[in-house]
Amino acid sequence: MTTTGSSRLAVGLLDLLELLLPAECAGCRTGHSQLCPGCRAALSDPRAGPAGPLPAPPGLPPLHAAAPYADPVRQLLIAHKERGALRLAGPLGLALAGAVRSALGPGPPGPVLLVPMPSTRQAVRARGHDPMLRLARAAARALGRAGHQAQVCAVLRHGRAVADQSGLSAAERHRNLRGALGVPGRAAARLAAQARGRPLILVDDLVTTGASLTEAARALRAAGHPPHAAATVAATVRRAPARHRAAARQASRGAAIPGS
Ligand SMILES: [Zn+2]
Repeated sequence: MTTTGSSRLAVGLLDLLELLLPAECAGCRTGHSQLCPGCRAALSDPRAGPAGPLPAPPGLPPLHAAAPYADPVRQLLIAHKERGALRLAGPLGLALAGAVRSALGPGPPGPVLLVPMPSTRQAVRARGHDPMLRLARAAARALGRAGHQAQVCAVLRHGRAVADQSGLSAAERHRNLRGALGVPGRAAARLAAQARGRPLILVDDLVTTGASLTEAARALRAAGHPPHAAATVAATVRRAPARHRAAARQASRGAAIPGS
């Protein structure tokens, strides 16, 4: 069976499991639905805004996130990504759409191109689906309902294997990922066609040190299409309004990045 065939089978089984298992909220493990009203509110749109890391690593596009990486949002992302809770893609995608709108800034809805962070082929095989591609498509649908002409362009590819990022410092993560992503020939042509007249927003489920998004932005710049901004569902570091962010960057010049 092909990888795509086995992935489709795995997704089908995950869908079936969701129907058979007694539903409880994936965010707080209570209630009788996969997403209770309280956890849905934690993903709500008005929370989206500029996000860390502070200071931003050089090359990281302006970053906006829908929520801090804390429970229940953390639990919802894990359930979708690692436990195949596919029905969470809609609400998580709606949250991501809020971060994209925040990244686009005020003004009437317009065209936008979402470029999702790529999963490795092994990760897609192991999980049975590509969580980020699924979230990007859900976000594009939510943006479409809000009047945007949103498209998803999954053109980033892993060019080489990278070491497991867990346990690495921020600087080590950046070194580990440098040059790991690219936009190969046919994908570059697709990107050129789709990016015409559309601001390009890099999208991911989570930002920690910003190393992955910085590398993705580098690859897109190298392909001739610099991203306008990046948007994520969650951010591990405290989000700050833009004016505070600039002040904090000034204050912490030369200081180490705390935590991630
Ligand atoms: Zn809940």
